[in-house]
Amino acid sequence: MKVDYTKNNGLIPAIIQDASTKTVLMLGYMNEEALKKTIETKLVTFFSRSKQRLWTKGEESGNVLNLVDIKLDCDNDTFLVRVIPEGPTCHKGSDTCWNQENIQDFGFISELEAVIENRKDNASEEVSYVASLFAEGINKIAQKVGEEAIETVIEAKDDNDELFLNESADLLFHYLILLQAKGFKINDVVAILKGREKK
Ligand code: AMP
Ligand code: ZN
Ligand code: ZN
Ligand code: ZN
Repeated sequence: MKVDYTKNNGLIPAIIQDASTKTVLMLGYMNEEALKKTIETKLVTFFSRSKQRLWTKGEESGNVLNLVDIKLDCDNDTFLVRVIPEGPTCHKGSDTCWNQENIQDFGFISELEAVIENRKDNASEEVSYVASLFAEGINKIAQKVGEEAIETVIEAKDDNDELFLNESADLLFHYLILLQAKGFKINDVVAILKGREKK
């Protein structure tokens, strides 16, 4: 890495990102020595401007940042540091220094989950298909998932890709509704899958 140390008294801003969830956890500064120590120990180490010394994140709290990799930006003056954090990253106790939860964002699927949750909360007020499903209850929703699963199986056996993808969308949609009806999110299922991976 040919790092440009000329711009900021030798201090390089280091954006710290969770390698798995992609959440930005904090921002720190690294000098050449901090970078070297980070790579050697595999624990993210900054140059603390307040302490005026090298500071390994978690040295007191134990909430270390395990290094995955470091990337330099387009003009060699900023690091993107991907990590696996242990515990909350902010010393005030939250997952990130912007007081966010470090959970996986599934983009459009997460937006859809939020819409479904909103329909559930307003089940009586809204005139919507999703709200009406919630009003009918878990058994009805579970039955819909079963029907869409069977339709997906049937279309899987044909070669009509459009029909297969449409039934897949129906299945996923109704499955998200079932999860919500049971009080869960896709993240709860992902946590189970991640737990299995370790074994
Ligand atoms: P730690 O490195 O987690 O053992 O925390 C030691 C000290 O470093 C804390 O008391 C704070 O002063 C500071 N500190 C820890 N984490 C952060 C952070 N995410 N952002 C800024 N300062 C921090
Ligand atoms: Zn830059
Ligand atoms: Zn903080
Ligand atoms: Zn269908």
